[in-house]
Amino acid sequence: MALFEKKNCSVCGAKIGLLGGHKLSDGNLCKDCAKKLSPWFSDYKSTPTESIRAQLADREENRKRLSVFKTTKCFGEFGSILIDEDARVFAAIEDSAASLFGERKEITDIAEIIDRNPDVVRFDQVADVDIDVVQTQHEEKQTVNGQQVSYNPKYITYMYMFYAVIRLNHPYIPSMRVQLNNSAVQIPNEGERLRNKVGLRLAEYLLDLPIRDVTKTEKIYDNNSLKDILTRSPYAMPDYSYGFKCSLRNREGIERYGYYLLMTEEILETVRQMKTAQP
Ligand SMILES: [Zn+2]
Repeated sequence: MALFEKKNCSVCGAKIGLLGGHKLSDGNLCKDCAKKLSPWFSDYKSTPTESIRAQLADREENRKRLSVFKTTKCFGEFGSILIDEDARVFAAIEDSAASLFGERKEITDIAEIIDRNPDVVRFDQVADVDIDVVQTQHEEKQTVNGQQVSYNPKYITYMYMFYAVIRLNHPYIPSMRVQLNNSAVQIPNEGERLRNKVGLRLAEYLLDLPIRDVTKTEKIYDNNSLKDILTRSPYAMPDYSYGFKCSLRNREGIERYGYYLLMTEEILETVRQMKTAQP
């Protein structure tokens, strides 16, 4: 066997350059054929040519499914999940930046992304859905006698990204991970966010805040009085909301945090309803 043997696409027969194309379990796939595959598909190495052919045929059928898709609900600003509740199907895209220059826009209708042929998936193909809230944090410090030291109490900025992770029983899409917020939710906070068990109990008993368990990873305090802040004096602000110490500086961040939590709850609820609805 020659070291630099010319490869041909197992599907269409086109010649594949040395560095081009993808390796399949039993052959090779050219770039042009790969472009027609689902944007959610990536496991070339363990996929045989026959499965690729079946996927390409299904992707053509998908255009027909899109032509009758009626968006009744949509979620997300970076990625998007579009739902047709009457037909009990949905479509999702990873990135709403459609243009060459990456300009993002909120997608509210399938017609806006129909040229990208997003896969229409039935809700009975959904195995489960999870919300993934990713927290990162950065502590601001001060310089005292030439040394970087913490403020007292510490001054920490928390940053949050929200993802919906939809796992499927589908012939060629194992799962979809959709980033919901366009940019990180930033919350400058005085001290550590109260979210450990001691903190929870403290909030429950001392601050009289109800506790909600939105996801497996997020134990948070709810405080409906946050809405009142807008109509009341800033001095009437609650001490804590979602475990953050309320201040004028972080009010907007906390509101955005609450907005995305509500979005994730609605996604979970909609998927649950769609999965259990009678066809
Ligand atoms: Zn090809």
